[in-house]
Amino acid sequence: MNAATLKALVGVGILAVFVAVGLSSRLSPRAAAAPSAESGTAESRRSDPTDAHSGGTPPVDGAFVPAYLELHESGELAERARQLWSMMEACTLCPRNCGVNRLAGAQGFCRAPGSDLVIASVQPHFGEERPLVGQGGSGTIFFSHCNLRCVFCQNYQISILGRGNRVSIEQLATAMLQLQAFGAHNINVVTPTHYTPHIVAAIDIAAGRGLRLPIVWNTSGWERVEVLRLLDGVVDIYLPDMKFASGAESGQFAGSPGYPEETKLAVLEMHRQVGVAHPNSNGIVNRGLMIRHLVMPDSASGSKEILDWIAANLPTDTYINIMQQYSPHHEAFNHPRIARRITPEEYQQVVDHAHHLGLSNLDSRTARWLRE
Ligand code: SF4
Repeated sequence: MNAATLKALVGVGILAVFVAVGLSSRLSPRAAAAPSAESGTAESRRSDPTDAHSGGTPPVDGAFVPAYLELHESGELAERARQLWSMMEACTLCPRNCGVNRLAGAQGFCRAPGSDLVIASVQPHFGEERPLVGQGGSGTIFFSHCNLRCVFCQNYQISILGRGNRVSIEQLATAMLQLQAFGAHNINVVTPTHYTPHIVAAIDIAAGRGLRLPIVWNTSGWERVEVLRLLDGVVDIYLPDMKFASGAESGQFAGSPGYPEETKLAVLEMHRQVGVAHPNSNGIVNRGLMIRHLVMPDSASGSKEILDWIAANLPTDTYINIMQQYSPHHEAFNHPRIARRITPEEYQQVVDHAHHLGLSNLDSRTARWLRE
């Protein structure tokens, strides 16, 4: 099966999932032509990250050099992975701070295993933000389990029940290379927090075998700053949610009263590391902060307060995707306040508020949704 056939299958929904095992022989061997990590220094190849590859062009041929390459070549990336790995002995990988020894088989709140990891799917995804999708898709790897418990989660079979396939770090690295071979624009790790050590270790392996795509850290936003600092120079694009402005709502609907304040600190650290996301001339973002916010019924997510905070603490051209697709799933019907979709008026008010604040870099689909 060649890449064109695979793309066609994705287009008709037949290829819903391919998990990170034994895929390489069925994909275009673009990765085999990639320069090895040993050929020249990262510095000699580094250039303006906004001049990266365009849609359909093999990313390894572009001028873009991912942040992690220099750390890989110096050995620092492996050291970061070791530091993160040791944090699982009394797990403090996320603000939940369970303190359990995952390496000895104990499970914390997220129920993620220790040495292995669980992946729900690996696929080039065409439904993410346009600057991540281009023509080749965003190379998404969906991780099972989650450190939050959103009562409205639309993926609760994966996030809460842990549905997926147990794989090794080696297999995760292989999946990254397969997505690159397919022509994806980035490696988009979805719900990565509880597997941070595994992901960094896999990037180190994959970098040595020719991985050159930017890493998208697609997170709930509920991250510890201390852990994020170990991702400085590893992640090129941060894609955090800002789910709730109030601890009352984040406690009630996601089981995490500390979410708003901890996420604000995390987002500031992410911005410090990667700055504002600007697309290149082909509309692709390869570096920067891209914030998502889901508007919920009855202002349950505190949309205006979140936009107020962004306007006061980040550049006004910070990329923001104000999402309208809230739909009650999982246990949302047990909470009358959020047991419905939002109205067009509720969404319009939030977007109007963003304009009023001078926030100028709203996701392009925002305007389209309002027209429809
Ligand atoms: S990653 Fe999981 S086990 Fe570790 S602190 Fe967070 S919820 Fe607890």
